[in-house]
Amino acid sequence: MPKKPKAAATLSKSSSQTYHSTATKSNYTVTVRCPYRVWQKLMAFAQKSKNEISGLGYVRRINSKCIIIDDVFLLPQEVNPDTTTFKPEAYRDFMVQLVEVNEEREQKGQPPLLARLQWHSHVRAGAGFSAQDMIVIDNCQAEWRISLVINQYEEYDIRLDQYKPFRFEIPVELEFTYPGLSIEALEACQKDIDEMVTEIKPPPPPPTPIWQLGQTIWPGGVID
Ligand SMILES: [Zn+2]
Repeated sequence: MPKKPKAAATLSKSSSQTYHSTATKSNYTVTVRCPYRVWQKLMAFAQKSKNEISGLGYVRRINSKCIIIDDVFLLPQEVNPDTTTFKPEAYRDFMVQLVEVNEEREQKGQPPLLARLQWHSHVRAGAGFSAQDMIVIDNCQAEWRISLVINQYEEYDIRLDQYKPFRFEIPVELEFTYPGLSIEALEACQKDIDEMVTEIKPPPPPPTPIWQLGQTIWPGGVID
């Protein structure tokens, strides 16, 4: 089972100090569900890369307390053992394409794809957010974002930051689920639902009796 390390158990390569998410679990804790399929992909990226490596992920907000990670992927980037940076033009092109894709999805009545997960690996160093990571997190311009740091030992730390209307950290815990739906499976099922399932208006509620002068008067007339 992947482990969330104790605070400051190890030091990040990127900094002399490692910052672990400090938001304590409360009634408002949000559960981020990570299918094993997605976790395996994250670990494959981490363990196949001798340098830091980073990427984004598509998430779905099921409700105010549950977010599911549907997929993770890379963007073109420059890396070394201590840093990873998306190529600015690649990030810009991806965001422009995402806007276009979401416009098409909206026309089809589909929910938007949310690339609200940013993840990176610290290779074999501690899985805690470095001072540099915190600068990136603090400067995010999104409405909200999940940040995930992992390493090759399957350790991780995760945080959820809300930026608008004001900045605060939301307590979050990562939960691993088996095996998880792929985006392709979700889209295929959505297509079948669109073709074969017709939404109809619910039947009207039964009439409510109106009590008047000892009689029951139904909307259709006096019964008794
Ligand atoms: Zn980092």
